[in-house]
Amino acid sequence: MHDLDPLVAMLNRLKLTALRDQLDNLIDEASRRELTIREALVLFCEREIARRDQRRVDMAFGLARFPFVRDLTGFDFGAQPSIDKAQIRELAAGRFIPNGETVLLLGPPGVGKTHLAVAIGREAIVAGYTVFFTPATTVVAQLAKAHGDGRLEDRLTHYAKPKLLIVDELGYLPFEPNAAHLFFQLVSRRYEKGAMLVTSNRAVGEWGAVFGDPAAATAILDRLLHHSHVITIRGDSYRLREKRRAGLIKTAQPRQEQPA
Ligand code: ADP
Ligand code: MG
Repeated sequence: MHDLDPLVAMLNRLKLTALRDQLDNLIDEASRRELTIREALVLFCEREIARRDQRRVDMAFGLARFPFVRDLTGFDFGAQPSIDKAQIRELAAGRFIPNGETVLLLGPPGVGKTHLAVAIGREAIVAGYTVFFTPATTVVAQLAKAHGDGRLEDRLTHYAKPKLLIVDELGYLPFEPNAAHLFFQLVSRRYEKGAMLVTSNRAVGEWGAVFGDPAAATAILDRLLHHSHVITIRGDSYRLREKRRAGLIKTAQPRQEQPA
């Protein structure tokens, strides 16, 4: 409706789209609150910046490829007493990211490892960091394929870029023979430069078996554990707990559950 308005034309040219879209409301608000010109300019700039920040966050979420939408407020800490809430909040504050540190989230299936990984990743994005989430099997398969195609360097560079790389579900599926070697290269590439968050249902002592190569697993762990925060979650699967509460299951039965 403002297409012919020279102010709208200028806002378009300056790409001040939030201001353009909310122009009438903002002008009304400024006059209703009897703002000075300076205060009104502050209000207008705040709205424009808020829109841009939101856009950046939306875009970064798309690029991060989280498997589901989860946040810390949606995490029931009461259900998982083995988790130190303060430690998770500290990690979500993101200081480990510029320091290039590693977070290991360990525990049986269904205890909220992926949920927490996504929630921490989400906070990191809001704080302005780039994040990429990948299942462990995918990253290894991609590296193996790139290796076969003679493009391993490109692929390693790709995975080295995000400020936080989340590798989920290490150990759920057996790796291919070359995996330890490839994963080692990835970890070395990021070592002390970019932060990693790795989730696994296997204790670090079992990683030799996971990788089928104890020496390589030791070399990988050596780097991952050097500047690390290890969180071991002990407890019941949250999904099973919910079902038990609903009376669908009578007792706590340990069973292998498929990851979400
Ligand atoms: P894991 O990765 O450890 O196998 P997930 O993070 O995928 O477990 O959790 C399984 C499901 O249960 C997800 O939908 C997750 O959001 C939910 N969940 C797990 N633990 C909690 C919790 N403490 N509070 C709220 N939801 C939880
Ligand atoms: Mg998981």
